[in-house]
Amino acid sequence: AKNAGKNDFHFFSHEMDQQAHDRVALENELRMALSHNELGVWYQPLVNLKDNNICGVEALVRWKNPVRGFVGPDIFIPIAEESGLILPIGDWIIETICHQLSEWEPHLKDDFHVAINLSPIQIRHSALEKTLLKAISSHRIKNDRIHIEITETALVENEAATLRTLSQLNQAGIKIWLDDFGTGFSSLSHLKQFPVSGVKIDRSFVADLEQDVDDRALISAMIVLANAMTLDVIAEGIETEAQCLLLNELQCPKGQGYFYSRPLPGDQLLDLYRWWPGK
Ligand code: C2E
Ligand code: CA
Ligand code: CA
Ligand code: CA
Repeated sequence: AKNAGKNDFHFFSHEMDQQAHDRVALENELRMALSHNELGVWYQPLVNLKDNNICGVEALVRWKNPVRGFVGPDIFIPIAEESGLILPIGDWIIETICHQLSEWEPHLKDDFHVAINLSPIQIRHSALEKTLLKAISSHRIKNDRIHIEITETALVENEAATLRTLSQLNQAGIKIWLDDFGTGFSSLSHLKQFPVSGVKIDRSFVADLEQDVDDRALISAMIVLANAMTLDVIAEGIETEAQCLLLNELQCPKGQGYFYSRPLPGDQLLDLYRWWPGK
């Protein structure tokens, strides 16, 4: 038993070494990803559930490493945050989106916007509103073409400075969405305290909508709450027509998910937008 324990320990320790090694390797590769042109921004439609029109898109970063292939943002964004790389990568994402918007502009309806995911670290960084507003004006796009998505973690840390930054962006006409709504804590006070225009209902609530009456009740309550506070709502992760119909019944104004479209590269998104059969 003693030996087995010893072996277990060695096995365990070897795995931890391996994990730390992978983490360092990944961080080093991520460091090169920008200059090697390995990052891209893809776009997923946000759909108005009443008339079925595309009212905007969410921008989602993609990393294609020559050896590993696609590495998901769920893997590399946390590494970018821990290493500080999120600041140059985040600036590059903002610049790329504003450039893309200026190219799309002749084809866009007035209400179309791009929602940018912002890490708490970017929001805490003092230059965010300058970076964002500078990129917007240098590409000659309107401020309201840009929305931002933040999670509640961003609001918990450094409340005063965060409130100042978000208020400035909001006053400049940039709408702020609370992402992954329902999964955090003290959501309700955040909705009151920060200049939030809408909430994105986390896809974990949408996934079992057909089977789970509790999830249905929760979503219904979130929509009633949002209406009462005149907040907009997007339900994330709609994968089936049945989910779409149920959300419509619950008066959910907007949705997003594979049922409508997966995230797409910019040129494909524009084609989808131009040929989209709204009502
Ligand atoms: P998120 O902000 O909650 O983004 C939604 C995620 O759900 C995306 O995953 C999207 O591809 C996925 N999704 C959309 N529709 C469906 C569906 O119908 N079913 C399922 N199962 N999934 C769906 P993705 O692109 O892998 O991004 C994961 C997370 O990485 C994002 O979650 C966000 O937290 C982060 N992220 C992505 N892009 C950026 C970025 O540009 N900046 C920052 N800071 N974070 C980002
Ligand atoms: Ca998001
Ligand atoms: Ca989300
Ligand atoms: Ca998420």
